[in-house]
Amino acid sequence: MNFWYRLTRFMYGRYGVDKLFYALVVLYFILTGINSFLRLWPIYLVGLAVIGFALFRVLSRNIYKRQREGQAFEKQWNKIKTKCRLYKKRFEDRKTHCFRKCPRCKAMLRLPKRKGRHTAVCPRCRHEFPIRVLF
Ligand SMILES: [Zn+2]
Repeated sequence: MNFWYRLTRFMYGRYGVDKLFYALVVLYFILTGINSFLRLWPIYLVGLAVIGFALFRVLSRNIYKRQREGQAFEKQWNKIKTKCRLYKKRFEDRKTHCFRKCPRCKAMLRLPKRKGRHTAVCPRCRHEFPIRVLF
C-alpha cells in the first residue's frame, strides 16, 4: 500500500481542505511571524488554537457543519473583497471626484470634485444637502 492510497482512505468521509483552511493557515503563519519578534505566549497560544482548529476541520466527519462554516466564511470574505475594491476605486478617483454620504438615505455619492461650497442632490432620495470641498 502506498502513501497516497492510505491517505485517501484515511480522508474518506472527512471534510478536507477548503478556503477557510487556507485562511487559517495564512493567519497562523502571520501570527507566528509577528510572534518571532514579540515572543508573547498569548499570541503563541492563539496561533496553536488557529492551526488546531484548521486541522480539526480537515479531519472532521461532520461535513455538513464544516460546509456551513466554509460558506459563512466565504460570504464574509466576499464582503471584505467588495469593500476593498470600493476603497481602491475611491482612491483612484480621488483627484476628480469626492465621495459623500447622503445624510438622509445614507447612500454613498460620487460627486465631481470642485473646490468650495456646493449643494448636492442625492439621486436616490432627491434630498439636497450642502457640501464643502476643501482641496
Ligand atoms: Zn439620499
